[in-house]
Amino acid sequence: MNDTIHATAVELAARIAAGEQSAEEVTRAHLDRIAAVDDQVHAFLAVDAGRALAQARAVDAKRAAGERLSPLAGVPVAVKDLFCYQGLPTTAGSRILADWLPPYNSTVVDRLLAADMVILGKTNLDEFAMGSSTETSAFGPTRNPWDLDRIPGGSGGGSSASLAAFEAPLAIGTDTGGSIRQPASVTGTVGVKPTYGGVSRYGVIAMASSLDQPGPCARNMLDAALLHQVIGGHDPADSTSINAPVPDVVAAARKADVSGLRVGVVTELGGEGYAPGVEARFAEAVELLSSLGAEIVEVSCPSFAHAFAAYYLIMPAEASSNLARYDGMRYGLRVNGGRYESAEQVMRATRAAGFGDEVKRRIIIGTYALSAGYYDAYYGSAQKVRTLIRRDFDAAFAQCEVLVSPATPTTAFRFGERLSDPIAMYKSDLCTIPTNLAGNAAASVPIGLAEEDGMPVGLQIMAPAMADDRCYLVGAAVEAALADRWGGPLLDRVPALEEVAR
Ligand code: GLN
Repeated sequence: MNDTIHATAVELAARIAAGEQSAEEVTRAHLDRIAAVDDQVHAFLAVDAGRALAQARAVDAKRAAGERLSPLAGVPVAVKDLFCYQGLPTTAGSRILADWLPPYNSTVVDRLLAADMVILGKTNLDEFAMGSSTETSAFGPTRNPWDLDRIPGGSGGGSSASLAAFEAPLAIGTDTGGSIRQPASVTGTVGVKPTYGGVSRYGVIAMASSLDQPGPCARNMLDAALLHQVIGGHDPADSTSINAPVPDVVAAARKADVSGLRVGVVTELGGEGYAPGVEARFAEAVELLSSLGAEIVEVSCPSFAHAFAAYYLIMPAEASSNLARYDGMRYGLRVNGGRYESAEQVMRATRAAGFGDEVKRRIIIGTYALSAGYYDAYYGSAQKVRTLIRRDFDAAFAQCEVLVSPATPTTAFRFGERLSDPIAMYKSDLCTIPTNLAGNAAASVPIGLAEEDGMPVGLQIMAPAMADDRCYLVGAAVEAALADRWGGPLLDRVPALEEVAR
């Protein structure tokens, strides 16, 4: 498969730079693909064909003028609809922002444009990035290209599905508790959550500010690394941005060598609640790492057992505070044109109509956890657990360079299966949440299909803060060895959507 939509971002950039294919042609191929399959997948909330083609033509003009092109110049990218991009609505998947046009660009968008990348449009997500299935989007769910009756993960289901459906070669996500890695895992794609502060949050609609982290989504580790390099690095506009060079993720993805590396298997991330097909593929991946020369060690992180509880206090607490700004006064929805007796009534009507059930649930939990009488018992205790989790990571990384686990306990489930059971939905992120609480880096890379349902399984690779390169080193090694074993990438086996009955 070497036509335009199946090519890697690296191949596309090379073709464009060599003049074998114009950026305009590459962009048109992806826009055509979106037009052909997105009524089935619904990965996109908005497509901006006009601007995308103009951006592509600008790259072609630069090349014709003999200007030096940046490494991903002319390569299309899809952006989660949580990032401000002037000229297109930024909805966060919510009715409360349905018609809101941002007056400025997020830093990530500015960096994509500065790198001469082509922005195809905005991808679907769970409302305010709250969810694991994209089912809480106010604009309808995204479908998993592997099986259109199943969820594509969440909250960034649109970004990951756009990759698996070959609508875009690269995409941008955000990860607060797993929203880059879990969709990557269940769609057979790659997703990386950089170190907290590694990629700017400026201009990203906030969910839980101490956990939110933008990052790259791709179909392979090297493409992800190149995108990480474009969007990463210090940003004075984000007060939590790390003022240090981006770890050399591209060199690590090219090196793809685990010989002599100590790889820790986390005891607590497996066993009860994990699907047999997930456990089988994970065990094979660990064997593969060993056969590639890694030293496998068993590592215990006892506090990980409490990560889930701590996350579901800290995240809603921060979200309840961040979402207070949607009050029907400043911007966004204002029900009935604000024609009510009092400001309180405007707020009540607007928030009742504008927010979905999951968002309301979290605002209520968060407000309760922060209320005077309960602050120490809930929020305070959760912060203590957070410290213990960080210590577990520190102790683990004294014994090994990276930690591994399944990326998710199960494969993609069917629509509706977990919607009425929030706890079951939340458990989709059991493996990914500890990393967000500690602020370090992690990735998900495909390791095959589960026997019981034929759906993709992901390997999670966790590294210390500012050692994001190790995720790429290990992920690329696994990816290369598996492609050899399978005779090609996993996504060669995704059903051709044009053959799926409509
Ligand atoms: N699924 C998790 C949640 O619902 C994570 C969301 C995210 O990372 N944005 O909170």
